Amino acid sequence: MFNQSSVLQQAQQHESFYLYDESQILKHTSQLNQNFSGVEFLYSIKANPNPMVVKTVFNQGLGADAASLAEVLLSNKLGIQKDKVYYSAPGKSTYDLENAIDYCTIIVDSLTEVQSIQKIAAQRGIVVEIGVRINPNFTFYKQSGISSKFGIDAEILFENLDNLKQLQNVKIIGLHVHVQSQELKADVLEKYYENMFALSISVQEKLGSPLQFLNFGSGLGISYSQSDVPLDIVTLGNATTKLVQTFKEQLPHARIFIETGRFVVSKSGVYVTRVLDKKVSRETTYIILSNTLNGFIRPSMIQMFMGVAADGEELTGLEPLFTSKNAFEFLTLKDTEEYEIVTLTGNLCTSADVIAKDIRLPKLVQDDLIVITNAGSYAAVLSPMQFASMRHPAQLFLKKDGSVVDATEFVQAIND
Ligand SMILES: *Cc1c(COP(=O)(O)O)cnc(C)c1O
Repeated sequence: MFNQSSVLQQAQQHESFYLYDESQILKHTSQLNQNFSGVEFLYSIKANPNPMVVKTVFNQGLGADAASLAEVLLSNKLGIQKDKVYYSAPGKSTYDLENAIDYCTIIVDSLTEVQSIQKIAAQRGIVVEIGVRINPNFTFYKQSGISSKFGIDAEILFENLDNLKQLQNVKIIGLHVHVQSQELKADVLEKYYENMFALSISVQEKLGSPLQFLNFGSGLGISYSQSDVPLDIVTLGNATTKLVQTFKEQLPHARIFIETGRFVVSKSGVYVTRVLDKKVSRETTYIILSNTLNGFIRPSMIQMFMGVAADGEELTGLEPLFTSKNAFEFLTLKDTEEYEIVTLTGNLCTSADVIAKDIRLPKLVQDDLIVITNAGSYAAVLSPMQFASMRHPAQLFLKKDGSVVDATEFVQAIND
């Protein structure tokens, strides 16, 4: 699945690195573009904000799901139009709102935020069109709601809609719901989309003006471990296309958005680390690798979470820090018959820096490489690279034509 010759070549220059493969990103964006009609996709930049990655995704027609002011501004810098940038996050500051307002559609996360925008818009003498994030009265699995820090409870929105309609400088034009990530069953997502249409119709009725967008959030999952059954994207695409047609008459002006981060980028990335040292201590063989917890934290987090979880306890609500026990593979590029049982650790001064315990791997020596899969999303961004002032892993981008661009500096410049 990954480009082995590029990995070997880059390993001559970089101690540890991410390699994002453009052709894999294009494969996944085209699966979305081909199977869904009447739907626009928004790329959730927080999954991987590397500008080379984001640019590739935008070039395939996707818009932006921005989770911060910086992601709004990055989208603008990369040249996508305002009507394709949607900014949704809890707890936006006045600074965030004032600086984002000209570059995106803001999706309000609370009633307080509506008032903040009303104030800014009144001062500027403009009318701002907004979306509202709703905490719905359903989940992926139940026809009842949950308590959440995200959005406005559906009941509260209905109670307040008449008042919101009276505001002079704010106009509600769209809805947003995102309840969870990483769903692998097409029928669960189909049912959720159906619920979304029903909710939207009732909000539109009460609002008394046509909704211009419905943002269904994310949920498109990917197979992390060998035992995951991949999401059937063709079936889901067909079912969604049908739903869009069915509800077109009742929601004639509504653009339909689906957000996705991991589906388009996760499989495109690998993380490559190398053996720095190896030692045996009281029967355990330790392989000491470069930048693990501090370069790609998620494999070490699995060890931490599993270490404190009760027997059989199901760990949920930890996305994107934790997905499942076997979410990542550790591949060696060795062609040998000799295997041994090893514990993989990193080179930080903490014993929490362990990515695998007692696993069977081909016999490794100093400078051998380990390639970790599913590193295209929630990988570099989540990792505490400043810990112990280590050198950072490089972030490299493998273009379709086989050339490799070093995009490390580019990433550090986002917030400047
Ligand atoms: C993080 C996030 C996403 C992306 O989730 P994926 O599972 O990576 O597709 C989409 N929408 C919202 C609101 C999010 O917070």
